[in-house]
Amino acid sequence: MRELIEKIVEEGEVLSEHVLKVDRFLNHQVDPVLMKRIGETFAKTFQNESVTKVLTLESSGISPALMTAYALRVPLLIARKRKSLTLQNDLYTAKVYSFTKQEEIEISVSRSLLHEDDHVVIIDDFLANGQAALGLTEIVKQANAKVAGIGIVIEKAFQDGGTLLRNRGFRVVSLARIASLQGGKVQFAEEVVC
Ligand code: 5GP
Repeated sequence: MRELIEKIVEEGEVLSEHVLKVDRFLNHQVDPVLMKRIGETFAKTFQNESVTKVLTLESSGISPALMTAYALRVPLLIARKRKSLTLQNDLYTAKVYSFTKQEEIEISVSRSLLHEDDHVVIIDDFLANGQAALGLTEIVKQANAKVAGIGIVIEKAFQDGGTLLRNRGFRVVSLARIASLQGGKVQFAEEVVC
């Protein structure tokens, strides 16, 4: 998506060979006009999938996921992160190794909010090793619901997540794909036309 790529070039900060900081428009300060475009683009991408719900993980996925849900006119469901290991029967839960925190966290969704007739689009801000998105697919599976697709704002194509998810048969659509962050520079993979 051209506007997103331009924004990454103008305002993204390469923190290391593995981490891109986008606090100026996505993760801390949010550009609502860009988010609206992102939401419309994902909505168009998944328009034929009979989507009933958008699912994301708190907190960075919320902005693009909300705009996607708005464009599709379906509810947004936000999986919660918690450290506690207390068992709660009214939750679907999955364990996720957090890329940014470098620790295992538990994510959960209320059983009352996800059902077997749901067609779910999963949205997240970044795709690195795929653990967050995979955890969300596990939650959808526990509900016997269907993953209609996975929408990622920024995929770091040099990490394993994209391959992991696509090999499992999920349709993964990323609006910007980064080939490398080496030398403090963002190099994009092939342009995604949206
Ligand atoms: P994964 O689970 O795919 O390894 O990592 C995805 C999650 O880690 C995303 O939800 C995002 O919050 C965070 N993340 C991964 N890589 C980056 C990055 O380069 N920059 C930022 N800001 N967040 C990242």
